[in-house]
Amino acid sequence: MSRELIVAGGGIGGIAAALALHRTGTAVRVFERAPAFREIGAGMSLWPNATRVLQALGVLAQVEDRAAVISGFRLLRPNGSSIADIPMSGFSTPGLCIHRADLHRVLRQQLPESCLVPDRTVASFSQDGRRVFLRFSDGSETQADGLIGADGIHSAVRSTIHGSGDPVYQGYRIWRGLAHSAKGITPGLASETWGSGRRFGILPLGQGRVCWYATRNGPPARPVGTGALKDEVKDLFKGWHEPVVSLIEATDAADIILGDARDRKPLRHWGRGRVTLLGDAAHPMTPNMGQGACMAIEDASCLAKSLSGTSDIAAGFRTYETLRKRRTASITLRSRWIGSLGQLENRWLVMARDSLSRGLLSHGWPIRLDTVYAYEA
Ligand code: FAD
Repeated sequence: MSRELIVAGGGIGGIAAALALHRTGTAVRVFERAPAFREIGAGMSLWPNATRVLQALGVLAQVEDRAAVISGFRLLRPNGSSIADIPMSGFSTPGLCIHRADLHRVLRQQLPESCLVPDRTVASFSQDGRRVFLRFSDGSETQADGLIGADGIHSAVRSTIHGSGDPVYQGYRIWRGLAHSAKGITPGLASETWGSGRRFGILPLGQGRVCWYATRNGPPARPVGTGALKDEVKDLFKGWHEPVVSLIEATDAADIILGDARDRKPLRHWGRGRVTLLGDAAHPMTPNMGQGACMAIEDASCLAKSLSGTSDIAAGFRTYETLRKRRTASITLRSRWIGSLGQLENRWLVMARDSLSRGLLSHGWPIRLDTVYAYEA
């Protein structure tokens, strides 16, 4: 079946989709707005559902070489006392922590260079029953048999289909940092500390590096200089258990990124005709379950499988969307809910939350990690 698909956006989702399609023999071109294909300088978790897909794509060993295994997750209070311990082992593939740039590079290196086109911003598209016609912001045009919008939370492809509309701010900011010191860190143990209206998460990355994230209730982030970010975040977590403050201190100001927690209400329909959506373009979610990129990687695998059995691209896209909608909507809403719980500010509610979480999380409820991580690639 000779056909060519275009992916708009070369983030983790777009590149994973290109790779999954390439593995099934489909010709694919990825158009990326940025002048080069790369990822931001932050770490991320890749949970067993995503690593299972990476295994099926034949890249898990290369990814593991650059990652650290996460074998457990601990929920703590700001004074360092434990709320709950959640084991992360026992799945057929591991949970990992990896630098985004490393994951992106491993995926990208599996693709022929000719299919990666940087510095091209998809501005609009149209379609007839046989082809999709794309127009770029520089006025150039191209066409293909189908289009996959993997152009992120502010997707142009999505807004062409569904109209524009801002993602929903969930009431808290998120800082991400990369520390070059693992002092006081237990290898393999990820943690999140829940305070009142703020949280601090730790993901050991291996080789003396640690990814951390911090949240705080308030208005959306304003643009600030990187030096000010470091002082601000250090002040916010003063007095919290070690190694929270020492991790912030061991982070270069340039390695701290500030953003907002945003998502969108799950869509009832994703694509139209020979156009579909993938990753954050389809289902942006808050990072509370560390599943945004994992879901994009699952999407990639499901998309390639849905297309492989049919010559009808529109029908293949609809099959893919039907298979993905319910799961991604459920994880989007669960992530939002966990965020609201984690960001509670009222002292009494925080105490009730912590003691309830102690009992419930130790038994896997209500996150049901077994169902989240059980994805058959
Ligand atoms: P993006 O990464 O946004 O990529 C979209 C790409 O499209 C970009 O390269 C962009 O330049 C390009 N683009 C945009 N518009 C156009 C256009 N018009 N034409 C061409 N190109 C275009 N997920 C996890 O699984 N684990 C984690 O630990 C985790 N931690 C997170 C922490 C934070 C603080 C946040 C905010 C998110 C986190 N996520 C995590 C979620 C994850 O980052 C996203 O879900 C994931 O990056 C989405 O990938 P994507 O390729 O769909 O979109």
